Amino acid sequence: MSASGDDICTTGGVSFWYNQIGRPRASDILEGPAEADVVIVGAGYTGLWLAYYLSAARPDMSIRILEQRFAGYGASGRNGGWLTNTITGGQDGYAREYGREATRAFQLALNDSVDEVIRVADAEGIDAEIHKGGSLLVARNLAQLRRVDEHARHAAEWPEEGYRRLTAAEAAERVRVDGTLGGLWQPHCARIHPAKLAVGLARVVRARGVRIHEGTRVDRIEPHAAVTARGTVRAGHVIRATEGFTSGLAGEKRTWAPLNSSMIITEPLPPEAWKEIGWSHFDTVEDLAHVYSYAQRTPDGRIALGGRGNPYRFGSRTDNNGDIAAATVASLAAILRSWFPSAKDVPIAHGWSGVLGVPRNWRATVGYEPDTGIGWAGGYVGTGVTATNLAGRTLAELITGANTALTQLPWVNRRTRRWEPEPLRWLGIHGIYRAYGWADRREQRGGQQTSVVARVANAVSGR
Ligand SMILES: Cc1cc2nc3c(=O)[nH]c(=O)nc-3n(C[C@H](O)[C@H](O)[C@H](O)COP(=O)(O)OP(=O)(O)OC[C@H]3O[C@@H](n4cnc5c(N)ncnc54)[C@H](O)[C@@H]3O)c2cc1C
Repeated sequence: MSASGDDICTTGGVSFWYNQIGRPRASDILEGPAEADVVIVGAGYTGLWLAYYLSAARPDMSIRILEQRFAGYGASGRNGGWLTNTITGGQDGYAREYGREATRAFQLALNDSVDEVIRVADAEGIDAEIHKGGSLLVARNLAQLRRVDEHARHAAEWPEEGYRRLTAAEAAERVRVDGTLGGLWQPHCARIHPAKLAVGLARVVRARGVRIHEGTRVDRIEPHAAVTARGTVRAGHVIRATEGFTSGLAGEKRTWAPLNSSMIITEPLPPEAWKEIGWSHFDTVEDLAHVYSYAQRTPDGRIALGGRGNPYRFGSRTDNNGDIAAATVASLAAILRSWFPSAKDVPIAHGWSGVLGVPRNWRATVGYEPDTGIGWAGGYVGTGVTATNLAGRTLAELITGANTALTQLPWVNRRTRRWEPEPLRWLGIHGIYRAYGWADRREQRGGQQTSVVARVANAVSGR
């Protein structure tokens, strides 16, 4: 499928990242009923990190991963490549429920996880093109600038997260985003090549004897069993690592809503444009719009920018190939060119999308039930690249019965309420995004305060 107008580009094909390195073919398809000590459903980062740490801690355990397409097919092979320290849903909710110290420990564990991913990639020879240059948030109108100030006050309460306030000039020294009035920056973030990390992890765990049965879709998870059309895999522990696709499993329709995120990537920019833009530290960049956009600079001189296309499909349906509409390519290209006018003539090379798992309260969880042997991790919304590593390490400890600092973190064994049935779910999610879009347009026209509409939408969504 192609976009129209000036931005005719390839879309879908899972992601640009796979176009670049070649899409894997499904291998080791499950041939019939089987047994294992541990079966993991889903070979994204969550499933792969779990397999990585568990195979190291318990090399005697047999581990099988069941994957509907190929390892890294989901969000893990499609994302914006921000390896960052964000607590999904923010610190405050956790602090209210579990206290400051527990939340602080969670933040520090996520900071460490950024470095842990870098360490493992290095140790295992995974060239995921990692550059740790921190993360820049920019305000491009007065209402966004007020939110920078709010954010800076919040950052003073949570110094562990690492954000500091930047003037417009300081922000521009890092990356010249047109119209920047001020910003924030924190050091615990790296840009990565998402698919290279997924493919590299799959290689490493296979070499340790973990079987990844690709092309093998699970229909249902039961105590000690994962049921597929090719046969049931029985195991002591069955872990659900299906994130945005979770609604496709029997009984999980309303667990996490699959929200779409869409991305575009440019052809390489000419050296004159890079001279204009700067961006020499490879910081990740995001604006403070309610429907925000996020970007990274690639080592080969492209800009990848993500944002919202169609936020949600009725009935929690998920896409297959990552195709996006021409209108989505056009709107993301317009944002990219408004941020970077010197990229105005650079063609858009590719557009794609993927699904995120969004819990009703916007907070990720890791859990395990010893009685049924069923565990899970996910609901990371748009911030799972780092959290999946922490989740994988934590699940490995929960499965082996270890009681450690990680298993005490406040996201462990939490229950969240389910989403409303349709059509309320569709109406609610689309209504919230319409409200955010309206608030952004009003702020762009000169509104100096965060719109009440956006604040109400935040309260309703639980964001
Ligand atoms: C466009 C986009 C941009 C993003 N940008 C960022 C970012 O920059 N930084 C960040 O931190 N996060 C980002 N995210 C989110 C991040 O990518 C995810 O949180 C993370 O990759 C989740 O990993 P996962 O393994 O839990 O899920 P996934 O990677 O989605 O893996 C789930 C796997 O399970 C398989 N599966 C699902 N159902 C079944 C079934 N029934 N049977 C068998 N297999 C099944 C899928 O095929 C898939 O391979 C982004 C996401 C998207 C879509």
